[in-house]
Parts: sequence; structure tokens; C-alpha cells
Amino acid sequence: MKNSYLGALAFLVAISCTAQNKSETAKEELEVKVKKTDEEWKQELSPDQYFVLREAGTERPGTGKYNLHFEKGEYRCAGCDAVLFGSDDKFESHCGWPSFDNVAENDAIIEREDRSHGMVRTEVLCANCGGHLGHVFNDGPTETGLRYCINSAALDFEKEGAKSPKSKEEK
Ligand SMILES: [Zn+2]
Repeated sequence: MKNSYLGALAFLVAISCTAQNKSETAKEELEVKVKKTDEEWKQELSPDQYFVLREAGTERPGTGKYNLHFEKGEYRCAGCDAVLFGSDDKFESHCGWPSFDNVAENDAIIEREDRSHGMVRTEVLCANCGGHLGHVFNDGPTETGLRYCINSAALDFEKEGAKSPKSKEEK
């Protein structure tokens, strides 16, 4: 009896989580240059990248490969290769995700209100492919006052002076 109760509870939790994800992704279409179907994205991206970029997921804090990464270079969108952030904009925020106080170019990202999970936050998306990157907060410690809290899975890093080993055909 107890087991079936727990089973039902777990089932309900699973349903409500799925519903939550659906409502997050069912937002209005963005006007972006790089447009692909979910199937195409699934083939190109790793499961982690797909979860973050296309399903607006969030990697667990402290797990991303660029969280404590401070080499000189450029951070590009893992979906479309657009340059998003420079290493000079990166700072250690101790929040568990790569944090930046500025974007490489003002038109590199799109910001929009995100009311999911019972919070009002500003979502940050790649302006080129519409991929979800993370959120921006107004509590940054530097002059800009901004803290772009970005998932590592949404980023690719290109070291300064190094030519990217993989160049993506589609731009
Ligand atoms: Zn992109």
C-alpha cells in the first residue's frame, strides 16, 4: 500500500515537471537567422547542449566546464558559433555558472522576461539562433552592475590566437 502511494506520488511529480518544461518552451517564435527543427538540433547538439539551448534547461551549479575557466579568448554559442562573450568580461561570481559582466556585442543576445519557476527573471538568448543561454541579473560586482549567468553547455570556447578546430558549415 505504501509503495503504491509513493509510486503515485513520484508519477505526479514527474507529470508536473514535464508540464513545467512544456510551458517554458512553448514561447513565441523568435526572429533569428539560424532556424532549425527540433530534430536537426537534436542531431547536432549533445544532450546537455540540447537541454540548455533548446529546452531552456539549467545545468547543475558547479558542473559546467567553463565555470572555473579563465583562459583568454572568446566564448561562442554552442548552437551556432556566434561570438557572445569575451574572456575579459568573465569574472568569478561563486554562483556555480560562468558569469560575465558584459556581452561581446550588444546585438549578440536577446533579453526577455522569464516568469517560470515562480520568479521574474531576465532570460538571455543567442540573437543568432534563439538558443537559451541563461539569465542576467542586476547584482553584478563590476561597473556594469550586470551578472550574465550563463550555462557552460550553451558555450564553446575559442582560445585567443587559436583557429577553431571545428568550423561549422551553417552560419
Ligand atoms: Zn546561437
